[in-house]
Amino acid sequence: MDPITAMLETVLEEVRPLGSGAPAAYIPELASADVGLLAFGVVGPRGRVFTVGDEDATFTIQSMSKPFVLALALENLGREEVLARVGAEPSGEPFNAISLEAHTGRPANPMVNAGAIATTALIPGADIDDRTGRIVAMMSAFAGRSLWIDESVYASESSTGERNRALAHLLKSYGIVTGSVDDAVESYFRQCSVLVTVRDLAVMAATLAFGGVNPVTGSRVVSERVARDVTSIMASCGMYDFSGEWLLRVGLPAKSGVSGGVIAVAPSQFGVAGFSPRLDVHGNSVRASAFMEIVSDRFGIHLLEPHESVAAPGVSVIETPEGPLVRLGGELGFAGAERVLSLLREITAAAPHASLITVDASELARLHPAAVMVLRTEVESLSPRVRLLV
Ligand code: GLN
Repeated sequence: MDPITAMLETVLEEVRPLGSGAPAAYIPELASADVGLLAFGVVGPRGRVFTVGDEDATFTIQSMSKPFVLALALENLGREEVLARVGAEPSGEPFNAISLEAHTGRPANPMVNAGAIATTALIPGADIDDRTGRIVAMMSAFAGRSLWIDESVYASESSTGERNRALAHLLKSYGIVTGSVDDAVESYFRQCSVLVTVRDLAVMAATLAFGGVNPVTGSRVVSERVARDVTSIMASCGMYDFSGEWLLRVGLPAKSGVSGGVIAVAPSQFGVAGFSPRLDVHGNSVRASAFMEIVSDRFGIHLLEPHESVAAPGVSVIETPEGPLVRLGGELGFAGAERVLSLLREITAAAPHASLITVDASELARLHPAAVMVLRTEVESLSPRVRLLV
């Protein structure tokens, strides 16, 4: 067994004994879930997938669909048009609360039901099937395989979904939903009923973690800006009225679903997914949440953990017949550019006057605009002794 799988297995066994909570009861098809099921998946930068536990178990995506439908809305309409219909503030309320802004009726955020129904209503479509088709296609691109809907969970939720229907009618009364209420809410029920495994979810989370590029298929699914917007809203609102404490304890943008799944995003590092049907009072999976907390701590992936790499780019100095060659590698951010500048000054002071100093930034994996600006200005001031290759 490879060391990463072994580490995940250890955490899986640590959380297995946790027996509190109960599966969601208000959707009959979910109430009968096998509470013994437990599975986790992690996907890293090279698209390697690690899964442990009941990795073949399929379950419905439920509220974990919300970030991906938001991504589709942002990609189609742009940030401002989406924000005109749904906010980006944590509601501090349960997922099914009537979290609407006074006077405007704008839902607090797209991660609670009211906001998600408003987001779904923004997706164009001639009818329910057309709209759902676009949504499932987007989710499939995130997962890297064709996903489909569990018709019995859909029927179960639709036949008991009066609260969501009521929310949709309220949204219509405020003009947030403009088309058919029925189409909006049924499309929402269908998006929640898409079947996934932890592998699918981990790949979907990883696609957000790697700026909208699916690391398994290599395809760009959404723009980097859209992936960042979605991840930001997951960080502040993804775990409902536990979002603040989640950021403290786990420190990763995340989203849960009442089926017992949780996805978490470690930007540039991992997509993580967990599944276990027992839920806590917030509607978040007990064992999946505990797993995420341990993994975040043990793997050192809390978002607010300090990172040296952005401030310390890879630099190597090679002597060539022309003069010193300064090769930059990895990521060059603003703080890192500052370090390169002082190194450049030292080299310029030490090098013989006739030599040409070359700064090679062409191999950088990532170059931030502010860093290149700082570097350019400095190189221009040292010209003609220093030249920059980007
Ligand atoms: N389909 C569920 C609902 O709308 C999704 C809720 C959730 O996963 N938290 O009630």
